[in-house]
Amino acid sequence: MADTVYILSGSNLGDREKNLELACEKLSALPGVEVIATSALYLSKAQDMKGENPDFMNQVIMLEFQYRPNELLNGLEQIETEMGRTDKGKLKPRIIDLDILLFGDEIIDTKELTIPHKQLLKRPFAMIPLLQITPDIEHPVKKRAIAEFLKKSDENKVEMYKDHVARNI
Ligand code: AMP
Repeated sequence: MADTVYILSGSNLGDREKNLELACEKLSALPGVEVIATSALYLSKAQDMKGENPDFMNQVIMLEFQYRPNELLNGLEQIETEMGRTDKGKLKPRIIDLDILLFGDEIIDTKELTIPHKQLLKRPFAMIPLLQITPDIEHPVKKRAIAEFLKKSDENKVEMYKDHVARNI
């Protein structure tokens, strides 16, 4: 049985829109993946990063995945490498960053993987596109609607760049 997964895709280097588009294409070509929906594209100031950094462009991708979370993580890392990312974890500008926000109702806390993503509820640039696709989605640990964690002021931190929600269903 497939799980519903939400990926946050982000870029703040080069042609950000093209990078997000290519990452989504590569994601849909991974074994066991079927892309179900993609959010609009959003811009936000780089957060928790060193020095001057260009704004981030972000998108959430909803997909069905047939295998286990660590297999998806391997696929995401492969895409990041193929797209030329070399600076993992250094809080520097990046061509592409792919994070697993949610993987069905799974709760995972290992050295390699924390699901739900540790920063999800602190990041309006992740919550806003996620809620655009699935407004009533619940956080599997908090057992409350993710929308409840969004503050009024968060809306000012994220700017819509291109409003287009695409759905395969
Ligand atoms: P970064 O690409 O800099 O965001 O960091 C990626 C690292 O975070 C990977 O090597 C993963 O092992 C780890 N990680 C922990 N939880 C997650 C998650 N939910 N999604 C993606 N990477 C994760």
